Amino acid sequence: MMYLLVVKLRMHETLSFANIRLTGPTPLPPSVRKAISRQIISHRSVEFKSYLERILQNLQYLMGTSQTPMIFTASGTGGLEAAIVNSFSRSDTVLSINSGYFANRFAKIAENFGLRTFRWELPYGSAIDPEELRKELRRWPKIDGVLLTHNESSTGTINNIKKICQVIREETQAKILVDAITSVGAVPIEMDALGIDVLITASQKALMSPPGLAIIAASSRILKFSSNFEAFYFSFKNMQKAISQGTTTYTPAILSIIGLDTALNLINKEGFENVCERHAELSKLCREELGKIGFKCFAERGFESPTISAFFVPPNWSASSLQSRLAEKNILVSIGHDEWKEKILRIGHMGYVNKNEIIHIIKNISEEIYKN
Ligand SMILES: *Cc1c(COP(=O)(O)O)cnc(C)c1O
Repeated sequence: MMYLLVVKLRMHETLSFANIRLTGPTPLPPSVRKAISRQIISHRSVEFKSYLERILQNLQYLMGTSQTPMIFTASGTGGLEAAIVNSFSRSDTVLSINSGYFANRFAKIAENFGLRTFRWELPYGSAIDPEELRKELRRWPKIDGVLLTHNESSTGTINNIKKICQVIREETQAKILVDAITSVGAVPIEMDALGIDVLITASQKALMSPPGLAIIAASSRILKFSSNFEAFYFSFKNMQKAISQGTTTYTPAILSIIGLDTALNLINKEGFENVCERHAELSKLCREELGKIGFKCFAERGFESPTISAFFVPPNWSASSLQSRLAEKNILVSIGHDEWKEKILRIGHMGYVNKNEIIHIIKNISEEIYKN
């Protein structure tokens, strides 16, 4: 029943679009596409202010925070950089939980700014074990921050953010920075209740909006903190001030913001709980059906992501050859990163997606496999 809204919208879809099952960007719902085909408005206008007010309220709900989220015009990685330069100073020490390609990127940004960065390396596909993390935290006596990825898009693994934050809070006062780029909008996350200091997401994943917006919420201690990095474009303090006046510091991706407003309204209409349930069900469907034809899930059992499924490709296949075969059928999927590039296929079922589309992809994958 929860698919009703999506299915209904889908009927107006033309068939000329590819079936976009990438891990990002994700497809735009028709109403979002319609909302962004319009004349530009000023980001200093009353109209913009009213978009922003509604967006911020919806984001607060999805991010589980009473803080005012900030919207920077940047991709998700810009959001990660903004988080680092507003949360730490040059000689600070952070522990990076390296659970995959994106967690590694977060660590690289920290290193780039000269933070002392300890990396706790986990094998790709494994989830963060909270008790192992406790031991790790005890190994590093003075940690200013912990960097982690909620949903590791490179491996299709989701972490138990609640237990992880609990352990961090029991062991240290460190600032907790969470890359939640492929979880916000599809998985519940309670930023304030979990004591998360900075929660980062982006417009083009589960929020089914045009790319270009890094969305960040920060705790009061971060907003009060004066970093010696003295960010200019990415200054949280300046952005908070602008947002409180119903605008942004500089000219934002105005049309992406307008698209985001429509997308967030769609999530509201479907009901966030239903949206989360739909993602969990599609992920389960994907695993069960592809499991039947011998695809093994890459993620540690019990930690399979609701938004992205990663599978080992069958023997005698390379991920890119299967990817190209599917592309010929107008189905776009992603492959692995680093040493897993050719070994895993990643399917995004995040944002604007319904059951029929997943069934369609599964059917095509199994046809390709059996044809061989
Ligand atoms: C997509 C993504 C990012 C950011 O990528 P951009 O291309 O910079 O938007 C960061 N972390 C995760 C987990 C992601 O999935």
